[in-house]
Amino acid sequence: MVVLKTDREIAKMKDAGRIASMALKLAGDAVEPGISTLEIDGIVRKYIESEGALPSFLNYGGFPASACISVNNVVIHGIPSETCIIKNGDIVSVDVGAFFEGFHGDNAATFACGDISQEARALIDATRESLYEGINAALAGGRIGDIASAVQRYVEARSYSVVRDFVGHGVGAKLHEDPSVPNYGMAGRGVRLLPGMTIAIEPMVNMGTHEVKVLDDEWTTVTADGKLSAHFEHTIAITSDGPIILTQCDGAID
Ligand code: MG
Repeated sequence: MVVLKTDREIAKMKDAGRIASMALKLAGDAVEPGISTLEIDGIVRKYIESEGALPSFLNYGGFPASACISVNNVVIHGIPSETCIIKNGDIVSVDVGAFFEGFHGDNAATFACGDISQEARALIDATRESLYEGINAALAGGRIGDIASAVQRYVEARSYSVVRDFVGHGVGAKLHEDPSVPNYGMAGRGVRLLPGMTIAIEPMVNMGTHEVKVLDDEWTTVTADGKLSAHFEHTIAITSDGPIILTQCDGAID
């Protein structure tokens, strides 16, 4: 069931989104050679709690940390670890949510550590841009498939692939609400987009095959071919005046 939000609720979601966005920015600022993903997770958690909010992911379905931190060929759900040390040339995807006054904000971005390859840079840029293609297609009166096909078209035109096993989602009082928001599909199909819908659009884009596998820890999701993957996400509200990005803060990269 899709839960529509009032203008007042959307304003509250903006507060949660601002905290999630600043947490993501701080994580990105911390990416440098020699830092562990557990240290980045600590920065994220400390900031979120300092705002009087809760990290949405901590203990969600048993996830043991505040942020998912996924390096290079890890697509999503990387578990922060003191033994995962970031090196020059790595790409680091951070996904973080904040729960504040009854609502969640959820966002993600992929950051470069030092000097990354041109190929890695191009993948990051295309993934970020595909998110905005999806957001721009999130128009009241349209369909979920409009978002899905906008992302897929942009990504596949650049010979990358979109992950299919994991998708975006509605977000609000619960971290994951209806509807599912896939990054592939046909325009004009699927759930009708209505003013008051709040959704997380989150393309996961692979350099090679779209296929992924989940490791034995039951979280860490890697590309099946070991090639790089990038991930960007915003929480947005659909309104009669167009989409509004809720996960924004001063000084954010996007
Ligand atoms: Mg999400």
